[in-house]
Amino acid sequence: MVSISMLIREQVHLAPLTTLGVGGPARYFAEAYTEEDVVEAVEFARSRDLPLFVLGGGSNVVIADRGFSGLVLKIAIGNPTRSVTTQGRVVFITGAGYDWDRFVAQTVEADCAGLECLSGIPGTVGGTPIQNVGAYGQEVSETIQQVRVLDLQSMQIRTLSNVDCRFAYRSSIFNTSERGRYVILQVSFALRQGSKPTLRYADLQQFFAGRSSEPTLTEARDAVREIRRRKAMLIVPGDEDSHSVGSFFKNPIVPHDFFEQLSARLLSAGLQLPSYPATDGFRKLPAAWLLEHAGFTKGYSKGRIGISRKHALAIVNRGGATAAEIIALKDEVQSRVMERFGIALEPEPLFVGF
Ligand SMILES: Cc1cc2nc3c(=O)[nH]c(=O)nc-3n(C[C@H](O)[C@H](O)[C@H](O)COP(=O)(O)OP(=O)(O)OC[C@H]3O[C@@H](n4cnc5c(N)ncnc54)[C@H](O)[C@@H]3O)c2cc1C
Repeated sequence: MVSISMLIREQVHLAPLTTLGVGGPARYFAEAYTEEDVVEAVEFARSRDLPLFVLGGGSNVVIADRGFSGLVLKIAIGNPTRSVTTQGRVVFITGAGYDWDRFVAQTVEADCAGLECLSGIPGTVGGTPIQNVGAYGQEVSETIQQVRVLDLQSMQIRTLSNVDCRFAYRSSIFNTSERGRYVILQVSFALRQGSKPTLRYADLQQFFAGRSSEPTLTEARDAVREIRRRKAMLIVPGDEDSHSVGSFFKNPIVPHDFFEQLSARLLSAGLQLPSYPATDGFRKLPAAWLLEHAGFTKGYSKGRIGISRKHALAIVNRGGATAAEIIALKDEVQSRVMERFGIALEPEPLFVGF
């Protein structure tokens, strides 16, 4: 039996540790403040043959009502941010458990560009590489330099480069080919000091329309947070529309031929299908449009759950909902979108304990 010095609790309720606020207890629960804690917790789980689930800020997970029958390890490694200047970039190095938005604020205060459009996203620094977090014209893959991990296969600490992570739209090795293999301990971001904010996204351009001077990084960060607040994409106490996982579904990427056929069929019914460029031969479709045109409009309500009044892609818990109710609505949305458009919507969050 391994000797354990960290606190391991039993039957800890997980719903309050998530933004959606559903789900049952963890059989065992531990918080890791250091890399040594992570190793110890993994050894504890292995010595008892328990499955392990790594939790960050709980903003992209749906926990089952029966909970999780293994060890939930919350990553709370919150080493203060360090920065070094190298090859014309300022590299910020931060513990995986550090609050993401607080970290972004520090980079903006240091006049470093690259993360300002990702202001206001809930969760931890270590949660961002998992699905290559993105918003308002930026993705973390553009600035992540390295990810320090514990490899659960070899129990060695390794450093993965940006290329090793194989980032793509809402994906990386962490949520695809190597899911469950690595615990992220620390992330480094290479940012541009003194550069202008990225103002590629239409909502942001509109926000600053009519201004004669260029917005600063701080103004861009404030604008992103304000736009997010209006859409309940910022966690604001008292705003029940922010009890979500953000967007519940990814924007589907479909082959060009399929897009052309669907678009022609919808046009004959008087509907113009919006789309965006994707990789060669593919188009990206807005999942929000598909939901709305399948009958799930903003404010749609079904008992204690529904679609956010401010954001068509967010399934929200309006108070006291169960995971089963969330899953039932997810299934209904997926089957109606499939029926109407022949598209299989892929959910964004991770489902735990199902
Ligand atoms: C209101 C709202 C708005 C949102 N807006 C956006 C948005 O604009 N863009 C976007 O991309 N996402 C968005 N999200 C989703 C979510 O905030 C991000 O995906 C976030 O990065 C998840 O981080 P987390 O720490 O909360 O991870 P969790 O939800 O705790 O975990 C998510 C996944 O990451 C894994 N994980 C977390 N930390 C680690 C670690 N240290 N090591 C290994 N695995 C780990 C978990 O095992 C799980 O698989 C939003 C969510 C909400 C609630």
